[in-house]
Amino acid sequence: MRYTQMFIPTLKQSPADAEVISHQLMIRAGMIRQLASGVYSILPLGQRVLKKVEQIIREEMNAIGGLEMFLPSIQPAELWKESGRWDFYGKELLRLNDRHDREFCYGPTHEEVITDIVRRDVKSYKQLPLLMYQIQTKFRDEVRPRFGIMRGREFTMKDAYSFHADEKSTRKTYEDMKRAYANIFTRCGLDFKMVEADSGTIGGSFSHEFMVLADSGEDAVGFCDHCDYASNLEKAELKPAAASPAPDSTGTPTEVSTPGKKTIDEVAGFLGTGPEQIVKTLVFEYEDGLVAALVRGDRQLNLIKLKNHLGCDWLNPADEKTIADKTGYPVGFLGPVGLDLKIYVDHEVGRMHDFVTGANKPDTHLTGVQLHRDITITEMLDLREVIAGDLCPRCENGHYQIRRGIEVGHIFILGTKYSKALKANFLDPNGKEQPFVMGCYGIGVGRTAAAAIEQNHDEKGIVWPPSLAPFQVSVIPVNQNAEPVKEAAEKIYKMLIDQGIEALLDDRKDRLGAKLKDAELTGIPVHIVIGPKNLEAGNLEVKFRKTGESRSLPFPGGLDDLVTMIKAL
Ligand code: ATP
Ligand code: MG
Repeated sequence: MRYTQMFIPTLKQSPADAEVISHQLMIRAGMIRQLASGVYSILPLGQRVLKKVEQIIREEMNAIGGLEMFLPSIQPAELWKESGRWDFYGKELLRLNDRHDREFCYGPTHEEVITDIVRRDVKSYKQLPLLMYQIQTKFRDEVRPRFGIMRGREFTMKDAYSFHADEKSTRKTYEDMKRAYANIFTRCGLDFKMVEADSGTIGGSFSHEFMVLADSGEDAVGFCDHCDYASNLEKAELKPAAASPAPDSTGTPTEVSTPGKKTIDEVAGFLGTGPEQIVKTLVFEYEDGLVAALVRGDRQLNLIKLKNHLGCDWLNPADEKTIADKTGYPVGFLGPVGLDLKIYVDHEVGRMHDFVTGANKPDTHLTGVQLHRDITITEMLDLREVIAGDLCPRCENGHYQIRRGIEVGHIFILGTKYSKALKANFLDPNGKEQPFVMGCYGIGVGRTAAAAIEQNHDEKGIVWPPSLAPFQVSVIPVNQNAEPVKEAAEKIYKMLIDQGIEALLDDRKDRLGAKLKDAELTGIPVHIVIGPKNLEAGNLEVKFRKTGESRSLPFPGGLDDLVTMIKAL
């Protein structure tokens, strides 16, 4: 490709709203442009990168027997009503009506559509298993679109779906998928971790996420420094209660006046105790009413753990008014002693004694409280958020480390959630109708490219892993007006193209400095600089973007070496 025929609108400045480096660099390198909030045009240079990601995904999906297909982006409401997600998906689902006033949505995901296809055309266990995938545009009306195409509203996803006669076959495909994903992200040059994950709104029984480790990641990943346990922090488990319970209490519940002291810190400061001597009483609202949860004063409750334990569709912190109306007690002085709600208790509270809680009276707390003696509890479980240094739940000697991560891929075993809802059945070997067992598997194409930039950049711009680079080589004549220079550049360019190497010939009449800056900004791995002085001396300058290293190569004699060198990258 000749630069003068390309369209690479590079910029010196990045837009003010671009918070993360990948967003800034994609804009500055002329890869993407915003059309509306969370909606981006992919320009030619960006498209070349996304096609690379897609091709790697395609090859790895095909290698495990995936069949590529292409489903409609517009989906009829009826299917979503059948699955129950028309109401459940909420505002993230973009809904539209056609001219006959029929309801549709723009697909945020395709479980319904694919299940509908399979229920119509797959009748027997003999046709199973089936693995189908597509690479297609999704729309999700995200609350906070940001970070460019990393969290867009419109974005490209590879989504795959598998259908099986039983759980065992599903597990096999799931394991194949884990390996395929590991291959994909390795080939994309990413430093990633596969972590255990919550199955979220798609629902189901089993799931892993693929996290690219980067400080800008929106997720937190907890992993063991000793064994290979790793989990999204949302789901990171803690060791069950220690064998030794708390020693008996020495005191009895005693009211103390704590005027205006509502927060843990205020109470701890006022009473001269540590926050680890206080028990926090948190109240949540869910579809069945209110529940209370107890954690140590200096800990954070993990809402997802409580939500999953209750098996509810939604769970939110109850507001002050709801709490006051339903319990009759003032927020800030709420406590578990005598509280008429179901009370779930984090294991760690079981190891405390003589602790402080609210007294369910204004400006008053209780000291000397003992869990089982003074509080009617519903259940003890793992409720708190993991912090760095906590013991690993899976091995003996490990401790948690925590890093930020970008979720680039997500795989689920769905079980029969959708097949049951949509009455998608097959006949088993005994001629009996059974619901399909399903799995689903997603990768964000744009997010993967953005994550690669988060991990591979420097102050000059992007440093593409060679597998994702839009071009492998930039051929840069120092002076486009000097005939021998121009000729040599053309010759090298042609030779590279003939060798199947993606080369960009920078045939612009610009200064060398400007050309080099653009080659650096756009992250092209190898730059061949051709200048009159070097040519006379019979050599070329080859620069490597990643290391900044520069080498002199005999010209024209060294061209074969050049090709070998580039192919080795
Ligand atoms: P997130 O928690 O980041 O919103 P999700 O759990 O909603 O992701 P999935 O429904 O599992 O995501 O989608 C599969 C993949 O699609 C994700 O792993 C991610 O790479 C990508 N993806 C999801 N939402 C977006 C988005 N708004 N913009 C770009 N890519 C996305
Ligand atoms: Mg999401």
